[in-house]
Amino acid sequence: MKDKCNNCGSESFHEGIVNHVLEINGHIYAVKNIPAKICDRCEANFFSPETYDSVYKMIYNPKSPKRKIEAELLEFS
Ligand SMILES: [Zn+2]
Repeated sequence: MKDKCNNCGSESFHEGIVNHVLEINGHIYAVKNIPAKICDRCEANFFSPETYDSVYKMIYNPKSPKRKIEAELLEFS
């Protein structure tokens, strides 16, 4: 079965490296350099279940190297 973009329905992707921001239990994490599939048409990023697993393991592992960054948090209203 071919993967389909959830966003635009395109079936063509390329591999790439992206940064991703996610929120877990009220904490916001920015994870850099994640391998992803990127939609050729709309540039939406998709991660494999294995990649998601690794990202979550990194976040829950207290030994993961972490660096505090300054970020501007904007809320759409
Ligand atoms: Zn797309």
